[in-house]
Amino acid sequence: MSNVSTRRTTERSRQLFERAQMYLAGGVGSGTRAPRSGWQPHPIFIDHGSGSHFVDVDGNDYLDYMMGQGPLILGHRPAEVIEAVTRTLAERGSLAALCHDIEAEAAAAVCERIPSVDLLRFGNSGTECVAYALRFARAYTGRTTVVRFEGHYHGWSDAIHWSAHPDLAAAGPIDAPTVSPSSTGIPHELEETLIVLPWNDVDALERTFIERGEEIAAVITEPIMGNAGGVLPADGYLQAMRGITSRYGAVLIFDEVLTGLRVGPGGAQELFGVTPDLTVLAKALAAGFPVAAVGGNRGIMEFVAEGRTMHGGTYNSNVLACAAVVAAMEITGRPRFYEELLARGERLADGLVEVARDAGLPACWTGAGSLFQLWFGDQAPTEYRSSQELVAQSPFPLFQRELLARGVLLQPPQEGLFLISGAHTDSDVDHTLAVAAEVMPAVARAVAEGRVGPTGGVR
Ligand code: PMP
Repeated sequence: MSNVSTRRTTERSRQLFERAQMYLAGGVGSGTRAPRSGWQPHPIFIDHGSGSHFVDVDGNDYLDYMMGQGPLILGHRPAEVIEAVTRTLAERGSLAALCHDIEAEAAAAVCERIPSVDLLRFGNSGTECVAYALRFARAYTGRTTVVRFEGHYHGWSDAIHWSAHPDLAAAGPIDAPTVSPSSTGIPHELEETLIVLPWNDVDALERTFIERGEEIAAVITEPIMGNAGGVLPADGYLQAMRGITSRYGAVLIFDEVLTGLRVGPGGAQELFGVTPDLTVLAKALAAGFPVAAVGGNRGIMEFVAEGRTMHGGTYNSNVLACAAVVAAMEITGRPRFYEELLARGERLADGLVEVARDAGLPACWTGAGSLFQLWFGDQAPTEYRSSQELVAQSPFPLFQRELLARGVLLQPPQEGLFLISGAHTDSDVDHTLAVAAEVMPAVARAVAEGRVGPTGGVR
């Protein structure tokens, strides 16, 4: 056994959760933080973060691989970004809903980086900017139907929060999935505006366009399925998607909320060499501040520029948001930032696979170095259904709990991600691999005893 210490009490978190439930629906600010989403027996309440670590209200220290679900590309409390934002706040205030100088600086930094973006507008969340992207695409094409893929997440708006994580029993045939709402309260009439397809299947996409190409306004995709554990596009798949959408005059939207400014300087579109028409960015864009953007080629964005397509928002482009974008983009734009980030993450991913195999478990990883998932199987998933097959027999929840007990924090579900920041160090990676090696024999025992699946054998 290593000398890795196990976690002390979380009593204060428990008490705070009890109080929170008196006033906050479910005691949480977002469903992903609830016990039902894997935070058993209660969520951990954070006190403060610093670099790759945070400390909870009971004084427990965690090495953090959640990174705020993606935004913390520079770790917790990155000094230069915090300094830029606090200076801006002190000298200029928070917002005025008027134009200001930092806005164009922030936009220029993004346009110079992201190949598809000639013009953009800022917003406040990924959900909001995805909804705008769909509107822009419909306005530009004069068509209504949107193609989305099973298992992708594009935020919670009524227009697109369908078939994001469907129950397989009700998901229909793999080549023609049921279009099913991912929440109650979504008007069923919107079903007619969507087509759901399996991802990584060129034939299904081609067939759909042959049958209904004239009515399709847009195809929206995560270029890496970040919300299904970092599933990668097959060689040539995104290129084929680009070719088909161009042929039929449909708008190709890359939802790079997770991947943009995380998998490389120019996002996944640069990594795979495929330029969409519209791109949605958020998360790493402002290194932890609530900023998103929707942008794309001049032809589409001129509709917005001319006011033919409405885009607005009181909080858009506020000075704090723009100061955060400028500072974050400057830091991530420094030489070797992404090379070092990705290399460190890949060493961790490779090391975890080796640790699992040493314990006799099949293992592989998918994704990119700064955003990846460890899978307990020989074959990486290729789309939603194959990812769910692995989830059903995965000991990941147990692995996550054992790591958490030793102060290493991962998102609870197998479909989550390891998210790495520029603040993670080589010794963080070494430490994580040592902890993983310590817990892996127990994980292998759980597999041998059938204690697997989404609840990790906990009923
Ligand atoms: N798209 C993708 C790919 C995402 O991962 C997310 C958030 N996880 C969203 C959209 C929604 O972004 P937000 O939570 O900022 O509304």
